[in-house]
Amino acid sequence: MKPSAFEYHAPSGADEAVALLAELGDGAKVLAGGQSLIPMLSLRLAVFDHLVDIGRIGELAGIHVAGDVVTVGAGTTQSRIEASPELTAAVPLLSRATPLIGHFQIRNRGTLGGSLAHADPAAEYPAVALALAAEMEALSPRGRRWLAAADFFTGFWSTALDPDEMLVNVRFPMWTGRCGFAVREFARRHGDFAVAGAAVAVRLASDGRVERCSISLIGMGSAPIRATGAEAAVVEGETAPVAAGDVGAMAVAGLDDIPSDLHGSAQYRRQVGAAMVARAWVDAMTEATNA
Ligand SMILES: Cc1cc2nc3c(=O)[nH]c(=O)nc-3n(C[C@H](O)[C@H](O)[C@H](O)COP(=O)(O)OP(=O)(O)OC[C@H]3O[C@@H](n4cnc5c(N)ncnc54)[C@H](O)[C@@H]3O)c2cc1C
Repeated sequence: MKPSAFEYHAPSGADEAVALLAELGDGAKVLAGGQSLIPMLSLRLAVFDHLVDIGRIGELAGIHVAGDVVTVGAGTTQSRIEASPELTAAVPLLSRATPLIGHFQIRNRGTLGGSLAHADPAAEYPAVALALAAEMEALSPRGRRWLAAADFFTGFWSTALDPDEMLVNVRFPMWTGRCGFAVREFARRHGDFAVAGAAVAVRLASDGRVERCSISLIGMGSAPIRATGAEAAVVEGETAPVAAGDVGAMAVAGLDDIPSDLHGSAQYRRQVGAAMVARAWVDAMTEATNA
């Protein structure tokens, strides 16, 4: 199948793009790398009269490190993120999640902002943004505002962005000290969306105690989920380290919105999710311990 007819717009700047979105209303949609939107249009899962292509807007792409914050433009391609030595050093979780996204052809076109705005609960970047408490900068004709990742993802394929707002930047706070980071997921084939997965970040105190921990779950609900109960348990567990299997079990306990589809039942996903948390926990703790 092919998309129904649409009018194509190629604004040269971000302000022009959001002015177009405001003018064209509900019939308009941002087009970034097109790796999610074009298949949806082609399958007629979505129909828009106007596509506003932001792919040629240079100001939307870039990686800037300043102090303990890294700002990545929403239009930065996933392959640029994957190849960035600054991001490998400053935001390892983002770098390590990137090769798990589709295939390199997809990452050559797909953007950070496209993945976050698309808000697929099985995608890697939303889980990473949530784990690292990233902040999203939205632009509209009314100005700019910052949204916390915890407030950004509102449900399946939906975000807190208004229809005339565009994601322009994502700010990642750097974790420093004795830290470890890991992403683990299970997909049926390399490049497929994950059946279930987890992103884990830990920081150890000088005595080896876990002083900070973030655990985000991939594909375990209608949006990415922070496993706050498991996080609190490992930080509070001052006397004895918590076993990896227990961290996994705690992370998926109480989830009541796990998807069930042809790729796996909710019960199966719960088991896989727990195992992925446990493996990511071991990887992150090993790295932090050796740091
Ligand atoms: C075969 C295949 C396998 C894939 N596997 C994975 C995978 O394993 N993991 C994964 O995470 N993704 C996967 N993807 C999706 C891929 O990562 C996409 O790149 C990503 O989801 C969307 O990025 P994009 O730049 O292509 O956005 P588009 O497809 O252009 O846009 C996606 C949505 O986001 C909106 N949007 C885009 N940019 C902005 C912005 N700056 N502001 C506001 N709204 C915006 C668009 O309007 C649209 O609704 C796969 C895609 C394919 C085709």
